[in-house]
Amino acid sequence: MKADLHAHVPQGYANVNKVVDTASSRLSPKGLVVIANFNELDRYEPLISAKGYSRYFTSNGSACYFPEQNLWIIKGAEPMAKLDEGEGEILGIGIPKGARINYQKPIQDTIKEIKDLGGKIIIVHPGLPVGSTAPYFLKHPEQLENAIGIEAYNQEGQLFRANATTRQILKKLAPAIQKYHLGLTAGSDAHYPFELGLTYSEWDVFLPFDEDSDRFIQNLEVIIRNSPRIHAGGKIAGPAGSGMHIAKMLWHKVRQN
Ligand SMILES: [Zn+2]
Repeated sequence: MKADLHAHVPQGYANVNKVVDTASSRLSPKGLVVIANFNELDRYEPLISAKGYSRYFTSNGSACYFPEQNLWIIKGAEPMAKLDEGEGEILGIGIPKGARINYQKPIQDTIKEIKDLGGKIIIVHPGLPVGSTAPYFLKHPEQLENAIGIEAYNQEGQLFRANATTRQILKKLAPAIQKYHLGLTAGSDAHYPFELGLTYSEWDVFLPFDEDSDRFIQNLEVIIRNSPRIHAGGKIAGPAGSGMHIAKMLWHKVRQN
């Protein structure tokens, strides 16, 4: 299975067939893509509710399976959380459909919110100059106990050579990563459908359809913790895509200071 474990589509985007076609063409024959909301139900819900290819849902709606394309679309949420100093984004996956994770809460509260909803945590883009939670986890490595994975490669991170910084951070966190059995993951951090699935993690196993959402997410956790092969691909996202996203984060940071 090939999995782009960290992606987005534009707010309110509703062309589910285009997303399925793009993702399944790049992640075939068996793929999985996480579509993460920001502070609203603005990415996953409109997408998987749109008319298009036939699909099944797990019981809580946190995952959607397209049988003809062998593709999973999983719900994610990437809230901004407050750290001891500054702020950073954290990714929860397997969040129930319709459930929202609060923004701008202390990171301990955000972690609890994700876990209480049955979601699993991936520490994303630790090497990014803004929007990283790495300062928190470097200071409190025991808090990695709450995560199942850490993103070793982020396609958007190419913009800031952030993946080199990520490698240095992973070295420092290596004892905790091993102790808590975190998988090393990869994601496109796509903000447009054309960026989806160019960067992905790959394993020899595939998750079959399972209507039981708890069992499904537990099986996904086992796979993710079992560190995959990472395929770093894709072009640097266009200025209209992730560049805008980072500009917004910078603006937010400047406004706060
Ligand atoms: Zn993201």
